[in-house]
Amino acid sequence: MDLVNKVSLITGGGNGIGKSVAKEYGQQGAIVLIVDKDLVAAQIVVEEIKSFGGQAFAFHVDVSKPFDIEDLFEKIRKDFDRLDILINNAGISKFTSPFELLVDQWDEVINTNLRSVFLCSREAVKLMRKNKVGSIVNIASTRALMSEPNSEAYAASKGGIVALTHAMAASFSKDNIQVNCISPGWIETGDYSQLDEADHVQHLSNRVGKPEDIAKACLYLTQAGNNFINGTNLIIDGGMTSKMIYEE
Ligand code: NAD
Repeated sequence: MDLVNKVSLITGGGNGIGKSVAKEYGQQGAIVLIVDKDLVAAQIVVEEIKSFGGQAFAFHVDVSKPFDIEDLFEKIRKDFDRLDILINNAGISKFTSPFELLVDQWDEVINTNLRSVFLCSREAVKLMRKNKVGSIVNIASTRALMSEPNSEAYAASKGGIVALTHAMAASFSKDNIQVNCISPGWIETGDYSQLDEADHVQHLSNRVGKPEDIAKACLYLTQAGNNFINGTNLIIDGGMTSKMIYEE
């Protein structure tokens, strides 16, 4: 899809991977809607995009709240009356012993990381199908495929995204809407900006990822001519999930 003036929504676009995705779409001439519960961060990204001549708008939304999502899409219907691309990126991680994890904490992770993907996608498709074209990319994680202790809620939310991606791709394909997901390995962002040598060598590429590695993949999946890629989980992890533990 030629991205000039295409309306592209990125959840969690105020920081980290989402920020890099927002700037990439801004550079391509898309109209970028940056959704974040941190409005100040979203507004900073808007200013950065405007500084290079791009078009961007910030929205204060907590994607774990269904009412916030309804309100957001009402505004999009009124102000833009179309949506071409949705990147479901907002997410949180909580690593707690399964014996100490509270039901509220489980719900917070699942509602933020997984339920929001379904609710935002369902609203997005109502707009996309008017033009019979659209592309959705969900940010899952390699934690859907391999895991570590105390990651139950996060791993379940990301595994859920992979399965949800398949289901939605099947439901929405008749309207020419693609749904894919990306499973990143370690990416240097906020909580994960202090990664050390032990983290780098887990990857065949011998480095952890950068937000731009994921932003470029979002662009690729949503580009014109790539609509044969549908319902897939693109693993971008520098080969982490392919690497066995071995002695050099
Ligand atoms: P980050 O913390 O740097 O940025 C996340 C952004 O999402 C923040 O701006 C935050 O305010 C926003 N956000 C969080 N909860 C929200 C909510 N309820 N409503 C609206 N906005 C909300 O995180 P990141 O590292 O850039 O991660 C982005 C996505 O990539 C997440 O889904 C994460 O699980 C996934 N991921 C990250 C890594 C990694 O190593 N960084 C690896 C695999 C997957």
